[in-house]
Amino acid sequence: MIRIHLLPGREKSLLRHHPWIFDGAVKEKNAPAEPGETVLVCNHQDEPLAAGAWSPASQLRIRVWSFDPEAVIDREFFRARIVQAAALRKELGFLRPDGGCRLIYSESDGLPGVTVDLYAGFAAVQFLSAGAERFRQVITELLLEQPFIRGVFERSDAAVRQKEALPARTGHLGGEELPDSLQIVEDGLTFETDLCEGQKTGFYFDLRTARQKIRQISGGKKVLNMFSYTGGFACAALAGGAESVLNADSSAPALEQCRKNLSLNGFSGNYENICADVFQLLRQLERSGEKFDLVILDPPKLIPNKAAVMRGCRAYQDLARIGFKLLNPGGMLANFSCSGAMDMPLFQKITADAALQAGRRAGIIHRFEQSPDHPTLLTVPETFYLKGLLSITA
Ligand code: SAH
Repeated sequence: MIRIHLLPGREKSLLRHHPWIFDGAVKEKNAPAEPGETVLVCNHQDEPLAAGAWSPASQLRIRVWSFDPEAVIDREFFRARIVQAAALRKELGFLRPDGGCRLIYSESDGLPGVTVDLYAGFAAVQFLSAGAERFRQVITELLLEQPFIRGVFERSDAAVRQKEALPARTGHLGGEELPDSLQIVEDGLTFETDLCEGQKTGFYFDLRTARQKIRQISGGKKVLNMFSYTGGFACAALAGGAESVLNADSSAPALEQCRKNLSLNGFSGNYENICADVFQLLRQLERSGEKFDLVILDPPKLIPNKAAVMRGCRAYQDLARIGFKLLNPGGMLANFSCSGAMDMPLFQKITADAALQAGRRAGIIHRFEQSPDHPTLLTVPETFYLKGLLSITA
């Protein structure tokens, strides 16, 4: 194995089991290792510390596979990690044959750059780093070994692949071909998902516990569901007895899928779908004077990078301000952020400012976070990204 040395003092995060090593910490920045090749990470005194994957094109030059420098990164290594990941989802009760969940969540499951979502026996896989890409075939074969997986489909079309100089790629990888229509059942609700074309891998499993909460509080409410995508919250709210739901999204295909999902679950008549830019629609609703009992705001990542923090924060605050304004007295706002750069204290501050601007007194009655099939790895705080607040107004 090629030995890569860290500059003096640059092993601190690694000793705390954080798996990312940036190019600035590495002595041999242009080492002759191939993309994804396993290298031995040593301190400046040549003592081995970890085994990791080399990413020559990325600022994130090495992602650690194992903090045991003696570890052999081979088929057995990946098999053990996949089996561990599956055991956790089984423990959570998420490994049902007709259900879905995130099976492998990258760093949190000890497999940086690998994500796998499971849809009723079909795995949608993203290989997002040079190291993951190098073991693509092995990982695919190991997934197909799992008794609960029938077919594997690749969705390596996330933008982060560019940072690794990897081209976008999608398609069948092994096992059974995807059926034309794939449905999953979550908490008794059926969702048809599009593994080939849907956003991310098709469905937001990270919102599972949020859907449960929305269902619990929706009884009798008039709900405004902004950035509705394929109707996860819409179905949850109506299943919880909502009086009506108004959905909006800028994607027409997402709304068509939303309509199908509502109909699959037997809902008709008490919802409306609007294809629109939510930022404009909210202003229109504000002018119209229409009010709601529950407003859900789940925008896409509005802070894609550090440079966008200020602009992103303003956008989150704008949304929440109008959201508060659209509430009847006693109404609730559920606002979310999936931006990693936004932490919970900052999100709370922004939401507080929004309530103040809207002239509403509001208290937090629940905090949302990503579902437990996306565990936050204690040593890698970056694995926590999804947060939300449920506030009730006076
Ligand atoms: N709440 C959804 C997930 C939201 S994902 C769920 O429960 O599954 C974010 C959604 O916002 C996507 O569907 C995307 O099409 C939509 N979107 C992005 N920008 C938008 C905009 N400016 N106006 C309306 N929708 C937008």
